Parts: sequence; structure tokens; C-alpha cells
Amino acid sequence: MKKYGKISKKSPPLKRRKPSKRSAPAAKKTGWAQALLKAVWPQERDFMERPERYRYVRKLLPDTGCVFCSAAEEGAGPDSLVLAMSRNVMVLMNKYPYNTGHLLILPRAHTGELWKLSDAVSAEISGWLKVAAKILTDELGCAGLNLGMNHGAVAGAGIPDHLHWHIVPRWGGDTNFFPLIAETKVLPQTLEQTYERLRPHFAEIKL
Ligand SMILES: [Zn+2]
Repeated sequence: MKKYGKISKKSPPLKRRKPSKRSAPAAKKTGWAQALLKAVWPQERDFMERPERYRYVRKLLPDTGCVFCSAAEEGAGPDSLVLAMSRNVMVLMNKYPYNTGHLLILPRAHTGELWKLSDAVSAEISGWLKVAAKILTDELGCAGLNLGMNHGAVAGAGIPDHLHWHIVPRWGGDTNFFPLIAETKVLPQTLEQTYERLRPHFAEIKL
């Protein structure tokens, strides 16, 4: 059995990938062929493998648990940003919104696989999506909405282990150059202000 006890002072020497046959003779090529090789296989240069570091990196990452499950435990309120909770589902404001009023609809159960949801939970989620769409349209006066889910990390889910549907209000001309060049979205309201506006509407709903 492999032991991962003490850190050996004699760390194995750094391994560098041997230049492949593809990239080595590329230097001799000229013009478009050289440019294409560099563009398609840029990662073949200066690649460093240190697999023995992995277990130390993992220890450095804090185990903070699931933020959605923590919010569910906390219940509705401006601190948790939970707007509503029903038997199996909750409505949460996104802490990092793409736009004002960006909400998340999610099952209270911690799962990242859509097919694990029962029909009852799926119906409850569908109900909340409709309610949220109506409240956002009426209260915030948005002209449209983006609704959807990223299933799995490779599809772009930030928290892939706990399913969540996004619902993002849209107004005409609400995108500008800022998100493109600075990865920063300017919102006209704070999260707290939006929460205060939306909470009374959601509190009325019984699903
Ligand atoms: Zn969770």
C-alpha cells in the first residue's frame, strides 16, 4: 500500500514533457503552418507535471460545505437571501447576480442529478418558476426573463452538486461593455433593496 506520511525531503525531480515530434520540427516550418501549430497546440510548451503536490493542495482548500444547504437551514430572511421555502423547494436570491432580481429556484435536497428529483418536487419547482416570473415582471417591471439550468460543472454550473434553476430578469439595453471588458456587472439596486421589494410578494405564496 502506498503511504502518504511524511513529506520526503527528496522530492522527485521536476518532469517536463519531452517536446513532441509535432512541436519540435515546427520551428523549421514557416508561414501559416507554423502559426497553425502554435495556435492549436500551445499547451505543449512548458508543461510541468507535479502530481505529488495534489494531496497538499487539497488540504489547503477549506471544506465549507454547500452554501445552498446552509441557506436552507437558515431559512427565509435578508441574511440568507432566501425569499421563500415550500415543502421541497426554496427560492433564493443569487449573491452574484447577472442582473437585478436574479433568482435561483432549487430543491431543498442536496443533489446534482435532475433524474433523482421526484415528480412532486419537479412540479413544485415548476410552480415556483411561474410564480417568480410573475413577481419579477410585476414588481421589477422587467421586459423579459432568461430561465435555465447548467447541469454539471462542464456545463457551467458554479455549484454542480446542488441543482438550481436560474431566473434572470431582462430589460431592453441592459447589457453594455462593462461585463465584457471588466467582468463587472453594474446593478442599479443593492441585493438588500431588491430583497425588500420581492420578499412581501413571495411571503404571500403558499405552494
Ligand atoms: Zn446542498
